[in-house]
Amino acid sequence: MKIDIVTLFPGLFAGPLQESILGRAQARGLVEIRVVNLRDWAEGRHRVTDDYPFGGGGGMVLKPEPLFACVQALRGPNSRVILLDPQGRRFTQEIAKELSRGDHLILLCGRYEGVDERVRQHLVDDAISIGDYVLTGGELPALVVTDAVVRLRPGVLGDEAAPGKDSFERGLLEGPQYTRPEEFRGWRVPEVLLSGDHARIARWRRGQALWVTWQRRPDLLETADLSPEEQKLIEELRQGTQPDA
Ligand code: SAM
Repeated sequence: MKIDIVTLFPGLFAGPLQESILGRAQARGLVEIRVVNLRDWAEGRHRVTDDYPFGGGGGMVLKPEPLFACVQALRGPNSRVILLDPQGRRFTQEIAKELSRGDHLILLCGRYEGVDERVRQHLVDDAISIGDYVLTGGELPALVVTDAVVRLRPGVLGDEAAPGKDSFERGLLEGPQYTRPEEFRGWRVPEVLLSGDHARIARWRRGQALWVTWQRRPDLLETADLSPEEQKLIEELRQGTQPDA
């Protein structure tokens, strides 16, 4: 998979893309991530990328010409061009999965007051928001999308850390995790996790995943993909039964 990130501030990406899992995925050739400087696609001696908004009002707007020229040069038959945009569809694990199946993403980072509307209407395939708040630019959202997508690519996480157990994978949150020591400041790890009984541990984990989802994000249960056993457990939770500790 290739990901091109188009930005006016390439320096913002150096650290996050080089470290840890994203850095290793690139070093192993599992993904190619390029940061493209939008200014290189602007015409004229001053390489101007933004201008005042028609009709007045404060701030600056990214001009369409450099964005169209840049995307035209990068785009191939399997490319998907995505504008990072607070007005876009809200990013979720489902969208991350959908994007991770693609060959080539081109992520466009807006700045200032945003991009000329003709970019949204005639250049991009999709617009994605990472939440209902406004950031100064699309760079952090592009990193969020890149991180969420790349970790889903085959081979990027080891088998042990495979994403299948993560929160949102089946519409539920993941249950609690513990590591050593067995006792910390008087708080003990649940006994079942030390039992070595894998069937019991698996049952406990399923119960805990339902419990934390019910406690923290009950809205997810309305659309979660639950087995008959899980539906029964939810019914019991609704009636006030606590899961096994
Ligand atoms: N004036 C725009 C509006 O009210 O919709 C906001 C522009 S914002 C200050 C500048 C750029 O940051 C946007 O073009 C977009 O690329 C990015 N951005 C800001 N918040 C974002 C969010 N929640 N999700 C995705 N991108 C965002």
